[in-house]
Amino acid sequence: MIPFLNLKEINLAHKEELTQAFERVLNSGYFIMGPELEAFEREFAEYCGTKHCIGVANGLDALVLILEAYKHLGRLKNGDEVLVPANTYIASILAISLAGLKPVLVEPNIKTFNIDPSEVKKHLNKNVRAIMAVHLYGQLADMTSLQEIAQEHGLLIFEDSAQSHGAILNGRRCGNLSDASGFSFYPGKNLGALGDAGAVTTNHDELASVIKTLRNYGSQEKYVNRYKGVNSRLDELQAALLRPKLRHLDTETEARRRIAEKYLKEIKNPRIHLPECPDREAHAWHLFVVLADDRAGLQSFLKERGVGTLIHYPIPPHKQEAYKEFAHLNLPITEKIHREVLSIPIYPTMAEKDVSQVIDALNSF
Ligand SMILES: *Cc1c(COP(=O)(O)O)cnc(C)c1O
Repeated sequence: MIPFLNLKEINLAHKEELTQAFERVLNSGYFIMGPELEAFEREFAEYCGTKHCIGVANGLDALVLILEAYKHLGRLKNGDEVLVPANTYIASILAISLAGLKPVLVEPNIKTFNIDPSEVKKHLNKNVRAIMAVHLYGQLADMTSLQEIAQEHGLLIFEDSAQSHGAILNGRRCGNLSDASGFSFYPGKNLGALGDAGAVTTNHDELASVIKTLRNYGSQEKYVNRYKGVNSRLDELQAALLRPKLRHLDTETEARRRIAEKYLKEIKNPRIHLPECPDREAHAWHLFVVLADDRAGLQSFLKERGVGTLIHYPIPPHKQEAYKEFAHLNLPITEKIHREVLSIPIYPTMAEKDVSQVIDALNSF
């Protein structure tokens, strides 16, 4: 069986460095807000090309804290609308709700799976104060067009970079393509911790300072509380484990790109639609997602052939019970995506013969 993802293998490839990191923390006696977090924040900011990185507990919190911080800075207020792609993982939308703002679901482009700038324009009105772009499946959203719209209408613009670590647009990495970006280091992400972890990147000094305060009970100075904050810290152990993994990220992304290129070149089956990737550097290939009219047939056929697959995602957010207020929305592209997408294995340690076996299986469907 070719697994959809082999997390054990991905991490064991760095066993020695991860073990050293663990021992460093164990021997240091620092477990929260210590030197490993500071070092990781410095290294990840440098990697993204941003002035600041603030480690937090997970990707969802990263997004919530960005929005909450902009409320403290007076740039957003309760009830403001935030445009977000309708087909994203539900966390991007939950973050907006949790921050007391109103998510407005926008249709994606069927070719890129990312928010469609022409659809964004249709939703603009005086209540819309921000755009949450999501680099879904690892491919960067059309940030150039989105930036233009944001600038013209005085909107804030954010990136949900939970799936796209390291992807580059015109020489700039994601995390550095908007006012602020949220990252997840959930174990299955391209840069994954051995537990939950996340971060915010930004070039805004004031925003960074507010988020640093909010993540730690609203306090910068011990027992002095400026805001009603939360506990959302990235612990020393996860920070220490992320540091060696960050050093290997670009190599692993290249491995993903090579697999994707082989898939794009060698999968030839009129019943399967391949993703489009016009800009090599702008895709980190967190997922390789194909479309098939007969998705159920394809998935069970691949299973018989020993190929593990997953669906990202089977139910669109507006059809979830959690968002029954959106159940009436007419989002045909989003619904088509949720009906037809299937993710096939792509991960950095995947053996070449397994890649070939996946291709053979897809071609014989
Ligand atoms: C994983 C993910 C998140 C949430 O990250 P967590 O670390 O699980 O909280 C947010 N948005 C997207 C697009 C994701 O894939």
